[in-house]
Amino acid sequence: MVDIFDLKQYPAEPFKIKSVETIKTVTKEDRIKAIEEAGYNTFLLKSEDCYIDLLTDSGTNAMSDKQWAGIMVGDEAYAGSKNFLKLEKVVKEVFGFKHLVPTHQGRGAENILSSIAIKEGQYVPGNMYFTTTRYHQEHNGGIFVDVIRDEAHDAALDVPFKGNIDLNKLEKLIDEKGAENIAYVCLAVTVNLAGGQPVSMKNMREVHELCSKHGIKVMYDATRFAENAYFIKEQEEGYQDKSIREIVKEMFSYADGATMSGKKDGIVNIGGFLALNDDELFGKAKELVVVYEGMPSYGGMAGRDMEALAIGLEESLQDSYIEYRVKQVRYLGDRLKEYGIPIIEPAGGHAIFLDARRFCDHLTQDEFPAQALAAAIYVEGGVRSMERGIVSAGRDVKTGENHYPKLETVRLTIPRRVYTYKHLDIVAETCKHLYEHRKDIKGLKFTYEPAQLRFFTARFEHID
Ligand SMILES: *Cc1c(COP(=O)(O)O)cnc(C)c1O
Repeated sequence: MVDIFDLKQYPAEPFKIKSVETIKTVTKEDRIKAIEEAGYNTFLLKSEDCYIDLLTDSGTNAMSDKQWAGIMVGDEAYAGSKNFLKLEKVVKEVFGFKHLVPTHQGRGAENILSSIAIKEGQYVPGNMYFTTTRYHQEHNGGIFVDVIRDEAHDAALDVPFKGNIDLNKLEKLIDEKGAENIAYVCLAVTVNLAGGQPVSMKNMREVHELCSKHGIKVMYDATRFAENAYFIKEQEEGYQDKSIREIVKEMFSYADGATMSGKKDGIVNIGGFLALNDDELFGKAKELVVVYEGMPSYGGMAGRDMEALAIGLEESLQDSYIEYRVKQVRYLGDRLKEYGIPIIEPAGGHAIFLDARRFCDHLTQDEFPAQALAAAIYVEGGVRSMERGIVSAGRDVKTGENHYPKLETVRLTIPRRVYTYKHLDIVAETCKHLYEHRKDIKGLKFTYEPAQLRFFTARFEHID
């Protein structure tokens, strides 16, 4: 049973709200019309037709008064902006890296790192993959190898640190292919596609030890570094009395560099960076950043955006903020479980994933249960979510057959500092009502199927 007044379990917002954006309530009749017009694809809904928008946590963050004040002190110089110097100082202090290369967002950093650190035919082991990260690795001739522990692929298995690298898999790969054929190890904290699952400090330390022995670099995808640090503080032996700042410092002491999307734990709406220790790699990165992003002292970001990111990074380290953040997400998961609704366990750092296979057990995977469920959640409560299942998985390039992923999910992603617990109650009630009437959810079929990344723009209609 969920005790919503337990402040230890579910901390109140560690902020008060001084600027608000009115959200429109849309009638059910209009929601039915809107989803029909969107071809039952939540990506094609207009944002103003959504009451609670849980499509993504990327760039949807609410900035603080200090960040907005920072926007006003943007030094929009082409070179040597003081906001760059501030961001550089914060990145060095927080993560301990020697060099900073700002980029317009995370994928800009991935593009540069993959270009300078991967040689044609080299392997890039990682703890599962992220779409853009893997794209850039492969585009630069790298071969991605998944070395995440097996448990990460099992939706219902509730174990801590599901994002860990399986050291046996990594060691076997190094032995088989030779250390010189490994470009670097890419370690994501937390693992987005596994459901926001964290990596333990012990695992980071061991990956570092194994890689140092073989002279292999370890590059982090730092996108959700603060959420990962909170899981360590909460669940890993020996870290309960450490501050988030100390934990983050130790995490990154086991890395040679990192790519970062500021749009997540940076608590801004745009921005990112590449951070490195190696002088030679840094030299190469600076040569490339001018081609793709801009001068090495702005890299595609306005001065004001670098200022906001520098402040956001500091705010993400506040113990009260990050505890609230992770536990607010867990609150939604707990409410859903209380109603008997099947979700992926344990709750991740940025989202709750509904298990659409079990939710819609009257539909086959070919009837797109997660897509149908996401559309039904919108109609029921004006809540926008995202399909992560067979539609997102696409078709095999060679055979043209659908991929049939094990996980068929709907992702409810929580933007940072945007929604209150009451909003999440509405999301939970919406899912509950729908769950009670789940047999009424009809399957879908394509009316339009694009060839690439079909989930973004595909259209559907009900199967009779
Ligand atoms: C969002 C994301 C990226 C890419 O960052 P963008 O800022 O969207 O380019 C990379 N890795 C992970 C894990 C992400 O979630």
